[in-house]
Amino acid sequence: MKTRENSTRNISIIGTGLSAIFAARIIQEGSDRKVILFDKARGVGGRLATRRSENGKFDHGLQYFDIESISGIPEIQELIEKEIITSISGSNRFFAPGGMTNIAKYLLQNYQINKEHKLTSISSRDKGFQISFENGKHYVCDDMILSSPIPQTLEILENSQVVISPDTLGCLKKLAYDMCLVVMVEANNKLEKKKNELGLKVGNAKISWIGDNHVKNVSDTVNFYTIHCSPEFSLDNFDKSDDKINEALDIELQSYFHEGYRILSNHKWRYSIPKSFYQLDTSLVLESDGFLGLCGDIFTNGRFDGAIQSGISIAKKYLTYDF
Ligand SMILES: Cc1cc2nc3c(=O)[nH]c(=O)nc-3n(C[C@H](O)[C@H](O)[C@H](O)COP(=O)(O)OP(=O)(O)OC[C@H]3O[C@@H](n4cnc5c(N)ncnc54)[C@H](O)[C@@H]3O)c2cc1C
Repeated sequence: MKTRENSTRNISIIGTGLSAIFAARIIQEGSDRKVILFDKARGVGGRLATRRSENGKFDHGLQYFDIESISGIPEIQELIEKEIITSISGSNRFFAPGGMTNIAKYLLQNYQINKEHKLTSISSRDKGFQISFENGKHYVCDDMILSSPIPQTLEILENSQVVISPDTLGCLKKLAYDMCLVVMVEANNKLEKKKNELGLKVGNAKISWIGDNHVKNVSDTVNFYTIHCSPEFSLDNFDKSDDKINEALDIELQSYFHEGYRILSNHKWRYSIPKSFYQLDTSLVLESDGFLGLCGDIFTNGRFDGAIQSGISIAKKYLTYDF
């Protein structure tokens, strides 16, 4: 069978986090190919995550980021001009007043996105793929990019008709992420820290970071704090109930919020920040009938700028792929 003409090819991108967003944008800007995004979540952004709770909002994933290596990218300049992201005191370190999710919502506003679509398997079909989702839906596409964290990607590939070389599989299986338990609190007192600092780096065995959502302009309500637990505490307590986790943190939380606090929400990141990296390239193309690419922050530095670079990397490989 003849391979489909380049201009009429269509590509499904799994995920709507930073790497997927930039992969989608580069492909859309550089070709006439049709791009559709899918995400298992109800909202977009992946680890760019903001949650509303009672009268305020919390950033509960990514907190702030460096743009030094990506400041020349037009989208970054546009986000600055639209005031979706703002510099911390004129430095290269940025945050998103209004919440991190706004970055994803803004950059994806003209894209077709199927939310609440968790990809479970891929099968080969007429030089392309049939992709199947947990909600029972199936789609057909020529090409695919998977931006899910690597253990989730491997789970999908294990259920799929995709052959991966033992070397590549060995490399991918070694990749790992820290877990992160998150607790979102409304406190009765202000956290003791320098006035305009976005949060407090904590060297505690249980807590690594306390983010101030009011200073970040994410929450109108004062004293809305995001607590990121340390990787060690998160690993030891990941499978416990929220009540048990909150109980185990009580003494530490009381020491920061001595006039009392109320936990409004909990979140569990099974894959928060990579602790090992794919060293060979900034993205990966698997052998297949159509184009099947992998991207994400684990291919670079595990951060905002690295996720973007990986998305751009896989998009460029796709646009120059010899079908
Ligand atoms: C708690 C925390 C704190 C952080 N702090 C910082 C920081 O201060 N500075 C910094 O630079 N970076 C930080 N990071 C890292 C940063 O958030 C990531 O590097 C970046 O957002 C990763 O983007 P990504 O596209 O690679 O992956 P993700 O954003 O994880 O995107 C993957 C997407 O795939 C979707 N998905 C997964 N499986 C499926 C499936 N089967 N079907 C459909 N969709 C699927 C997910 O829902 C998600 O939308 C932090 C992350 C966390 C969690």
